Amino acid sequence: MRFDILTIFPDMFSPYLKEGMLARGVKKGVVGVRLINIRDFARGVHRTTDDRPYGGGEGMVMKPGPICRALDSVERMEGKSVVVLLSPQGKPFDQSVAWEMSTWDQTILICGRYEGIDERIRLNCIDRELSIGDYILSGGELAAMVVMDTVSRLIPGVLGGEKSTLEESFEGSLLEYPQYTRPRVFQGGEVPQVLLSGDHEKIRQWRREQSLKRTRSRRPDLLNRAKLTVEDERILDGS
Ligand code: SAM
Repeated sequence: MRFDILTIFPDMFSPYLKEGMLARGVKKGVVGVRLINIRDFARGVHRTTDDRPYGGGEGMVMKPGPICRALDSVERMEGKSVVVLLSPQGKPFDQSVAWEMSTWDQTILICGRYEGIDERIRLNCIDRELSIGDYILSGGELAAMVVMDTVSRLIPGVLGGEKSTLEESFEGSLLEYPQYTRPRVFQGGEVPQVLLSGDHEKIRQWRREQSLKRTRSRRPDLLNRAKLTVEDERILDGS
């Protein structure tokens, strides 16, 4: 998977790309990241990337020309190559969208700034518009990092223990069960006995029960979408 990121602030990505899971993915060659500075495609002495909105009003709007030229400069890979605009008005980005994106060969992410980008880019140059939540960031860079992080960890070879991604929250529309590590007692709180029992079937059942109950109490909206077994229904009915 390759990510091509169009931004006027490429340096924002440097620390994030140097450490952790994504850095390892890049080192292994499983993930590629290219940063394209939109300003390099702006014209004029000042290389301006924004201008006042037609019709008046507050703030500035990103000019279409530099974004369009930056987009044209991106080498399109064979296979599935998708242009994504980060926008609070886009489709909500969630784990199922992340799984879909993890199958793409190339994701080109456009980061807006100011009051956003000229509408003609949205209408003519992009394939998808994604929002990371119902709030307004000052730019698409953090959103691009959120998307890149979430998608990368689903790509085989990035995390190592791929199985762990299948048990995490939102898989199967459930939240994950509670996790414990050493010490056995911490500030008076003990690790549940079942986790010390070594009985794998009992541990599996306990975790499933916790996962179901936790989802019901915290995110009942998810539970409506979960595929529940007869055993799951019994657990929920019995408590
Ligand atoms: N004026 C725009 C509006 O009301 O829809 C908001 C512009 S916002 C200040 C600037 C840029 O930040 C957007 O163009 C987008 O790229 C990014 N952005 C802000 N909130 C976002 C969100 N929730 N998800 C994804 N991108 C977001």
